[in-house]
Amino acid sequence: MNIAIIGGGIAGIAAAISLKKQGFSSVVYEKFPSYLNKGKGFILLPNGCSALERIGLKDKISKRGLELKQVVIQNTEGTILKTDELTDTYSVVRQDFLMMLLEELGESQIEFDCAFDRFETDESGKITKAVFQNGKTVEADIFIGADGSNSRSRKYITNALTVPSRVKELVGLLHAPDIAENLGNTFVKVQSEKESLSFGIVPTAGGRIIWFMQYDSAELDFDDCSPEDTAAAALEVVKDWKGYPKEILKRSIGMDVYRWNTRDMDIPKQFHKNNFVMIGDALHPFLTFTSQGTGTALCDAIAIGCSLSRNKEDYQAGFADYQNMRMPALEGITEWGRQLSWEFLRVDIAKGKISIPLAFKS
Ligand SMILES: Cc1cc2nc3c(=O)[nH]c(=O)nc-3n(C[C@H](O)[C@H](O)[C@H](O)COP(=O)(O)OP(=O)(O)OC[C@H]3O[C@@H](n4cnc5c(N)ncnc54)[C@H](O)[C@@H]3O)c2cc1C
Repeated sequence: MNIAIIGGGIAGIAAAISLKKQGFSSVVYEKFPSYLNKGKGFILLPNGCSALERIGLKDKISKRGLELKQVVIQNTEGTILKTDELTDTYSVVRQDFLMMLLEELGESQIEFDCAFDRFETDESGKITKAVFQNGKTVEADIFIGADGSNSRSRKYITNALTVPSRVKELVGLLHAPDIAENLGNTFVKVQSEKESLSFGIVPTAGGRIIWFMQYDSAELDFDDCSPEDTAAAALEVVKDWKGYPKEILKRSIGMDVYRWNTRDMDIPKQFHKNNFVMIGDALHPFLTFTSQGTGTALCDAIAIGCSLSRNKEDYQAGFADYQNMRMPALEGITEWGRQLSWEFLRVDIAKGKISIPLAFKS
């Protein structure tokens, strides 16, 4: 059985690894020419770690990433509001993580510079080939949509549009060995008690820190800033805060900052149609707060490999099995993200009820 995977992000590559381990052959088609400098980094929660264990990569994450042992929430005066222990949680730079997956898969199983355009179907509606913007066409028995939150392949199943989220996020990556060393294995989140604004500082491997600023786009707007001007504009916003945010933004001036315009969407009722199935952000673009984008992408990837393996003679049954397995967790995380977003936007209500991010287990 030939399998074509549209999108070579975390879900796409992990699915190819998972399928390979189950004895299937697949090829991944990625629109970008390489992974260089694409994205900053993220936190991988226990569900993501156990998914990595299933494909034999748990040891590697402890070398490529940094184990986080504690989360501390503090206010802008530096007063600690809440702490929590973390287990099996890692921070990792996105590019390092993708390279780790690619090393495991092997470069021969991915084609870069292949932007998916559309599917062609037979009279029954079943997909016969995928057509790419460079003119390439690919025939396969099964097509997996893993092309992220703005998925083009998703249109084969649903015309549901993603809705822009009011909460947006800036993400940066900074080499700051002194700050990383002081933080040790602690993830610090500074939460304003007066407005919908927070700043996260996540130490990671190699003396680097991943930082993010979550804000209400109805109150703050960085849309007119270039990626290099964004840190200076963000610094103005936190200039009276105590602690690391000011220092980190000062050092980030002139550096590229990723503006993450997160989007929301209900989980589709059907994850699959005919010989097509969706995984990762293409299926469930989560809101920013859950830190579950990567972990769930890995879990989807493992689940689709296992479901197809259990139903080798009937991929439709495999798709149904995959959907049954993943639906409850994905619906739960979507709702939880909305709840955290709601609390964030209603600062007065959230006061005294500070949710620890990363607490959701799936
Ligand atoms: C450039 C980029 C930077 C990111 N940076 C961060 C970050 O710093 N922190 C964070 O928490 N999350 C980040 N994310 C999101 C995070 O990677 C995902 O939420 C999560 O890993 C789920 O993975 P995914 O593979 O489903 O989606 P994604 O990681 O978004 O991967 C989708 C892949 O599909 C490719 N693609 C899209 N359209 C097409 C097409 N038409 N044809 C072929 N390929 C296509 C994309 O280039 C991408 O490689 C980033 C995503 C991207 C694309």
